[in-house]
Amino acid sequence: MKFYSFIFVYGLVAAAANVFGGLIIVQRDWRRDYLKYFVALGAGYMLAVATLEMIPESMSRLRMAPVLILAGYLLVHFFEHTLTPHFHFGEETHPHEVRSHTVGYSSLLGLIIHTFFDGVSIASGFLISHPLGLLIFIAVLLHKLPEGFTVASVMMAAGRSRRMALWAAVSLGVSTMLGILSMSLNKSLVHFGLPLTAGVALYVAASDLMPEVNKEPGFKVAAVVFAGVVFFSLTKLLLQGSI
Ligand SMILES: [Zn+2]
Ligand SMILES: [Zn+2]
Repeated sequence: MKFYSFIFVYGLVAAAANVFGGLIIVQRDWRRDYLKYFVALGAGYMLAVATLEMIPESMSRLRMAPVLILAGYLLVHFFEHTLTPHFHFGEETHPHEVRSHTVGYSSLLGLIIHTFFDGVSIASGFLISHPLGLLIFIAVLLHKLPEGFTVASVMMAAGRSRRMALWAAVSLGVSTMLGILSMSLNKSLVHFGLPLTAGVALYVAASDLMPEVNKEPGFKVAAVVFAGVVFFSLTKLLLQGSI
């Protein structure tokens, strides 16, 4: 029982960040220019966690891990960019692309699937070790604000009300919690959960967040990706007790 309570606290923090991200778009006068730095920091941090922690740990536990990593990657690609005709992270600034309500709802569905696996990845990490859980939690947390912001922005561009946009952000938080709950109730599936979510993390870092970093002019935002990798290394060393 103790395990569930602390893991749910991490989940609630991540879910709250989704809701806060939605609030930023609903409250029109709130600042949002700093969000691009979260996207870049999250991209670097998550890429490092996926390649240096989640993939090697998955491979040491399961021979078929590479197949699940690929499956996780393709799963997000299917729901976010195949079923959904127009989707990208950040503010929705292409009203002609999202005029129909279905685009808003298909983006929401894509992100609900994605955030479910955010939750599965946090729980998988903690089921294996506390340091791994913390590293995955930080990686997920860093992109939670932009995630909530994105879904609320898409819903409003698709003609939905502010209240509906905020509910969309709340649903991402709920989906994250459901992911945590599902993995926590099926601990024996962690050998499958970790590689699957390693593929999801790769997609989020390299195919969702990185393109948004590359859209920004100049080198400042691009350089923050490296800061994300350095931040990961520091937290890793801290958790090992090396610094
Ligand atoms: Zn767009
Ligand atoms: Zn996510």
